[in-house]
Amino acid sequence: MTKRDYYEVLGLAKNATSDQIKQSYRKLAMQYHPDRNKDAGATEKFKEISEAYAVLSDETKRKQYDQYGHAGFDNMYSEEDIFRNADFGGFEDIFRNFGFDPFGSGFGGRRQGDYGANLETEVRITLEEAAKGVKKEIHYNRSRACDRCKGEGSEPGSSRTKCSSCNGRGQVQQARRAGPMSFYTVTTCGKCRGEGVKIEKPCRNCGGSGKTSSNEHIKIDIPHGIDDDMRLRLDNLGEYGRDGPGDLFVRVHVAEHKKFHREGDDLYIEIPLSFAKAAIGGKIEVPTLFGSDMLSIPPGTKSHTAFRLRGEGIPHIQRSGKGDEIVRVIIDVPKNLSKKQKELLEEFEKEENESKKKGFGLF
Ligand SMILES: [Zn+2]
Ligand SMILES: [Zn+2]
Repeated sequence: MTKRDYYEVLGLAKNATSDQIKQSYRKLAMQYHPDRNKDAGATEKFKEISEAYAVLSDETKRKQYDQYGHAGFDNMYSEEDIFRNADFGGFEDIFRNFGFDPFGSGFGGRRQGDYGANLETEVRITLEEAAKGVKKEIHYNRSRACDRCKGEGSEPGSSRTKCSSCNGRGQVQQARRAGPMSFYTVTTCGKCRGEGVKIEKPCRNCGGSGKTSSNEHIKIDIPHGIDDDMRLRLDNLGEYGRDGPGDLFVRVHVAEHKKFHREGDDLYIEIPLSFAKAAIGGKIEVPTLFGSDMLSIPPGTKSHTAFRLRGEGIPHIQRSGKGDEIVRVIIDVPKNLSKKQKELLEEFEKEENESKKKGFGLF
């Protein structure tokens, strides 16, 4: 399903203030609150506006959403992450006053069943790799079904009876709240360790857990344009669960670059400029991430002037186009002058004083 734009969901312009976001959410939340609105689809609508609010009311998430859109943003956050730490200040109380937990009955929750936990690992890449995209090998540990008992936990051929503590389900359900949403974590039954059965003879290989630890080496594709601290989600590469594995999140760290500083998809660099060149103007060669480019300096350029090289920045993630390179020139005052240079500059100063005098003479 394609998600609607968060601003559109809340009926707001892109530059809406945080007060406008709050007001619009409050109004729509009242309108679509499943306790008051019994229309089909009201619950989904309420969830949609709550999600939009959770993102747009959080400065960091809003910025990331503005920059990367749904495609990039949804790769970085799970549904629960979106709601985590969201400031629903006051709104939750309204819901509680209604005596209603709108999300208590299912959606937004974790899949039901014995699914494996999600895992997170990290990978480090360079700025050049972030710009081009890169394949990286990663190593991590996860659990997999035991080969001997095929994940059952019991010695092949031995008897199994239903666990009395979880009634054979192997799991216990726990709810956590994040804003107006409840998220359900299904935790493993402690007594049967999630097997749902009382095992007469535990498997010799896994001791009855049904799992064995596995060292994984996988290659992942890191898309071009990725920024520091973004997470990639790899389906089904998490911990073992009898009904299906969890997911693997890979947090990407992009190393600081020696020359360039990255902001969004723009690259910033400072380069020295001789004061003669700054005064006379001309072309200079400036480094780009993968080479160099010529930059025209107009005569009379001041120190710290910034020039933009369009399209020399980092490619946008999951959409076309690139950021720019911003070159800031810093005028260098020479310290150790040769005899000749000193003479030329003295000549220059004399000339300058002369023209000033003439200038004054005119008025
Ligand atoms: Zn086993
Ligand atoms: Zn149990």
